[in-house]
Amino acid sequence: MNEREIKIACPSCKGHVQFPLEMLGQIINCPHCSLSMVLELAGKKTSSAISKANIAPDTLPIFSAESLRAIKIKSSDGIQYYTVNLLEYTCTCPAFEKDHAQALPQEFGRMCKHICFALEHEKLTSFLPPIAQAMVNERHGICAGKTAYDLNGNLIYVTRSNSAGWLNVFALPRKNSKKYSRFGYNINEARWAYGIAPKIDPTLLPPPLIQKTENRNFGNALFRVFRWIAFVVFKAILAVVMIVISFVIGILFSKGKSRHR
Ligand SMILES: [Zn+2]
Ligand SMILES: [Zn+2]
Repeated sequence: MNEREIKIACPSCKGHVQFPLEMLGQIINCPHCSLSMVLELAGKKTSSAISKANIAPDTLPIFSAESLRAIKIKSSDGIQYYTVNLLEYTCTCPAFEKDHAQALPQEFGRMCKHICFALEHEKLTSFLPPIAQAMVNERHGICAGKTAYDLNGNLIYVTRSNSAGWLNVFALPRKNSKKYSRFGYNINEARWAYGIAPKIDPTLLPPPLIQKTENRNFGNALFRVFRWIAFVVFKAILAVVMIVISFVIGILFSKGKSRHR
């Protein structure tokens, strides 16, 4: 055994697991039973409290089990499969390419729908920090965003807005009745869903888009007026042309008749 290597027993199957010292604190899948385990010093009692202490509150945990490198997850339309890599937190879906890939490898923003599914499928959600667990619970349509702190100094996560202008703020309540709180905010209307706002600095939210929306509405109204004027003018010209044509036909007709007389 290498001097820098540590040998411990898997808490689930008691199988021996050997790993280099640098990997201490990481979460892997046991090579014997493939259940998740924390690489901790041998002899130390492995309780869930100790495991949880290794979890950083604002980043995704580092997994190192090779079985997590290529997990096939069915797309929500059920037609195709995407490949999730939980070692680097990547997915082959378009939403990941477009949105989530911009986040750093351990940021919560990496979690597309399929990464959330994969974490659940591999029974790894208990290794996630609470905010990330909340995001897995609400996996449908979570946009990438940023971690921040509320006015009480507690960690929160502010997502970017979706196409309808809604963003989410994830916060962890002090009371234990609920696991987390999710606040919806509409950036177009600058309002909170149900009027319930978290205690946060308003500068954490993007500036309201009301100005732009008004301009666009004004542009639309102007366009509608122009279209209406164009329509009326077209109708008027058409009427004049019809009158002229009927006049000309009338004159020609009466001339032809008079010639016969
Ligand atoms: Zn095991
Ligand atoms: Zn995905």
